[in-house]
Amino acid sequence: MITTCRLVPERCIACGLCAVYAPDIFDYDEAGIVLFKEEPEANKQFVRVEEITAVKKAAAKCPVRAILLEKEKVR
Ligand code: SF4
Repeated sequence: MITTCRLVPERCIACGLCAVYAPDIFDYDEAGIVLFKEEPEANKQFVRVEEITAVKKAAAKCPVRAILLEKEKVR
């Protein structure tokens, strides 16, 4: 199983919390809406094992559930 993180930017209220908990993963566009730091144009990203704790915490703290974690089977 791998963990992926999916962003729902249309839910984001630009509160800035996710980058407090996972500053290496999340960044914002000019309006403060969440995006992935490494792949700003992507809405889904594989989560590295060493990042899972920080990403889970950011997802849990997001007040509008704009950060979704999903498990996927490796084929
Ligand atoms: S915590 Fe949620 S609402 Fe706040 S900036 Fe991040 S994605 Fe947007």
